[in-house]
Amino acid sequence: MFKINENYLKLPGSYLFSTIGKKVAAYAEAHPDKRLIRLGIGDVTQPLAPAIIRALHAAVDEMGSRETFRGYAPDLGYDFLRTAIAENDYKSRGCDISADEIFVSDGAKCDCSNIQEIFGQDNRIAVCDPVYPVYVDSNVMAGRAGEWIPEKEMFSNVIYMPCTMDNDFVPAFPKETPDMIYLCYPNNPTGATLTKAQLQDWVDYANRVGAVILYDAAYEAYISEENVPHSIFECEGARTCAIEFRSFSKNAGFTGVRLGFTVVPRDLKCGDVSLHSLWARRHGTKYNGAPYIIQRAGEAVYSPEGKAELKEQVAYYMKNAHVIYEGLKSAGYTVAGGVNAPYIWLKTPEGMDSWKFFDYLLETANVVGTPGSGFGPSGEGYFRLTAFGTYENTVEAIERIKKL
Ligand code: PLP
Repeated sequence: MFKINENYLKLPGSYLFSTIGKKVAAYAEAHPDKRLIRLGIGDVTQPLAPAIIRALHAAVDEMGSRETFRGYAPDLGYDFLRTAIAENDYKSRGCDISADEIFVSDGAKCDCSNIQEIFGQDNRIAVCDPVYPVYVDSNVMAGRAGEWIPEKEMFSNVIYMPCTMDNDFVPAFPKETPDMIYLCYPNNPTGATLTKAQLQDWVDYANRVGAVILYDAAYEAYISEENVPHSIFECEGARTCAIEFRSFSKNAGFTGVRLGFTVVPRDLKCGDVSLHSLWARRHGTKYNGAPYIIQRAGEAVYSPEGKAELKEQVAYYMKNAHVIYEGLKSAGYTVAGGVNAPYIWLKTPEGMDSWKFFDYLLETANVVGTPGSGFGPSGEGYFRLTAFGTYENTVEAIERIKKL
């Protein structure tokens, strides 16, 4: 008789965005005359840049000819892409990362949820709270998170590191010592960043206590301030304590195309065992999830034309972020984020929890956002709006909110 993995039953009943989807669908059905503006889900709206489209077309043509056809991709990704990543994302920023430490994949979500499989069952995880829910969820499924405590909306074996306006969304070192520390900067959902000195403190801490930092830099392209690091490998000592996740989703619009990568330095070891060798055996290695065509599109991200076009795309979204940030501020809201990230994190008005504010915005302004409590217990009392809409919709949404 087969058995199920009962850890799955510990997950909260419904994924945050499916609950939002159901509520929005019900409202839209009841009010067909209303035009809803969605500033909730973190998907992009701008089409792929011309340089990427050209690379896709060229790669598709190659697949149609016997001489240039490609089958299974190399396990860790094509050299042309791994070299472009190493040169542009790391060497040019002074980071000591080589192409063979880069593992190409079909996106950061799979990597940052699967990475926990190379770690022992009894590791304690620590997460920023609030944060992208995938880190906790994947550890729940693996049986590492303990039991769900409904009254606290927390798992018993997870170390939550509160990030609120009181600490400028920068977590303090936890009282209990974790083994695996998930850091996400620029942060989803708060939009907060760490300075290089603050990240260096975390690297020193991890090396001191023997923890690994799982650093999610999916929003690195949105960093505008000088003292904010783009990679954890800008910090000294990170090669012995950190793994980094990157995505082409938010910097290049690949949410539907799928491409990302993970950096596992060869110096990261547990005793004699290199984590690089463990990750090389991960699920799906044979295909690494990203087809040749898509890896060629990824290479185009680093071409001079690609870089120029994508700089404009990021600037487009950041113009929206500015509209949201300034508009909400002028309407009297307390607002954070939006400077180094496409997320604006606002405090809900007195007397409204984050779901109540969700309903209020939906019903009065017909604007869809994301309740902060969906990202962790410390997200209660906050609300996320994203800059990924069109400029016109963003301006209209903020005008509507200002009129409330
Ligand atoms: N990491 C963070 C922090 C995210 O917010 C997201 C998507 O919203 C991802 C990773 C997923 O990236 P990808 O599309 O590459 O799977």
